[in-house]
Amino acid sequence: MDERRDPEPAAGSTQHVLAGVGQLSPVQEAWAAYVAHATHCAGCRDVDRRCEQAEQLYRAWRELSSAALRRLGAERA
Ligand SMILES: [Zn+2]
Repeated sequence: MDERRDPEPAAGSTQHVLAGVGQLSPVQEAWAAYVAHATHCAGCRDVDRRCEQAEQLYRAWRELSSAALRRLGAERA
């Protein structure tokens, strides 16, 4: 008798989710990087400390999102 195997994952389950990560827009990737850092960084959780890395990630997100908004505005003009 065949040994029991885990069922095949449904089409588009885990692989689909992982594949989607690479399809985030640069703005979404920058935000995801900031959130991923901030949720795991002791410095970010301490209100009495400044976290230089978080500030850099946040600035990068701000710059990317305002550049994207400028492009949108230019396309509509
Ligand atoms: Zn931090």
